Amino acid sequence: MTESHIIQLPASAPRDQLHRPLHDLRISVMDRCNFRCPYCMPRETFHEHYQFLKPTERLSFEEITRLTKLFVELGARKIRLTGGEPLLRPNLSELIAELCAIEQVEDVALTTNGVLLEKHATELKASGLNRITVSLDSLDDDVFTKLSGGFKGRDQVLNGIRAAQEVRLLPIKINAVIQRGINDHTVIDMIERFRNTGIIVRFIEYMDVGNRNHWQLERVVPSSELHAQIHARWPLHALPGNYHGEVAERYGFDDGAGEVGFISSVTQAFCGSCTRGRLSSEGVFYTCLFATQGLDLKTPLRNGASDDELLNMIRNTWLQREDRYSELRKNLQEHPLRKIEMYYIGG
Ligand code: SAM
Ligand code: SF4
Ligand code: SF4
Repeated sequence: MTESHIIQLPASAPRDQLHRPLHDLRISVMDRCNFRCPYCMPRETFHEHYQFLKPTERLSFEEITRLTKLFVELGARKIRLTGGEPLLRPNLSELIAELCAIEQVEDVALTTNGVLLEKHATELKASGLNRITVSLDSLDDDVFTKLSGGFKGRDQVLNGIRAAQEVRLLPIKINAVIQRGINDHTVIDMIERFRNTGIIVRFIEYMDVGNRNHWQLERVVPSSELHAQIHARWPLHALPGNYHGEVAERYGFDDGAGEVGFISSVTQAFCGSCTRGRLSSEGVFYTCLFATQGLDLKTPLRNGASDDELLNMIRNTWLQREDRYSELRKNLQEHPLRKIEMYYIGG
């Protein structure tokens, strides 16, 4: 393990049952979304009468900041804001500025579908946001529209990416979920477009998150297959990980045109180094993307719990954590009946 892989932990940092520290916190700031990606929020379920949270049911910025400080006390150093669509949350930059001001926080990032990015890029940068990840599953207009659930937003997303480049929200990463027979034929186009731009495209294996996306293993395109396809056109070499717990495997183009990443959550599970906790928009703490239940922090928070009380609840939950769903997936006789939905806790 190189120096850059070692996580410096505070004395108070708990380790879970598999000796994993809590290092990354993903905060969902908004359960609503302006897309209806079929693999995440299929329209048949998330229709116009679907009951999303009321604004008062979502954690306020003050509550998120208070809880984040407690997570930081327990070791969290990297914060990622997500959703739903985080840019639908009014005045998000104010929250980012508060999170960036927390002394031990080393990195604040955001994952967005990019539709509102052009509008917000300048204020996001001014608030202290370090970098941005934009989800973009295909550059093909028709495929894009199908994968966003009927929204024709591709050009808006591309304008958002350009705006993020201009204000230097760097490095920009693009996340593309690849499904066999749906968008796997557009992978090479995507690489061609973003080589030599400094933008890092990362391909994500389609996951069985939630209960509503009708996931089928046959739809998963293993990263090894995509790697071979890309390598045949533009030879690749492996790059070292940036930090312990990084989910993407990095590869550089031999001709120096940049890098590409693969997130192989299904074919090469990385639970052993999973240091991520997740806070839902209504204040429930989850220790795994595939969790069936979490720790409600909003109720005690609103009932006047002290910081020490909340800290102990979070610490005890982390100490008991033994999640490794992706490693167990293929051996599970029965899959959990009610997993948490992706839009609710974020990716
Ligand atoms: N709305 C924002 C966006 O799309 O970037 C943030 C939230 S979204 C839930 C976060 C990430 O989860 C996106 O990159 C999305 O592609 C990914 N995601 C959603 N459902 C997925 C699935 N079934 N398998 C793999 N990734 C998924
Ligand atoms: Fe919305 Fe992101 Fe889910 Fe698509 S992946 S429906 S953009 S939350
Ligand atoms: Fe982490 Fe759970 Fe994913 Fe494993 S399945 S990498 S424990 S979030």
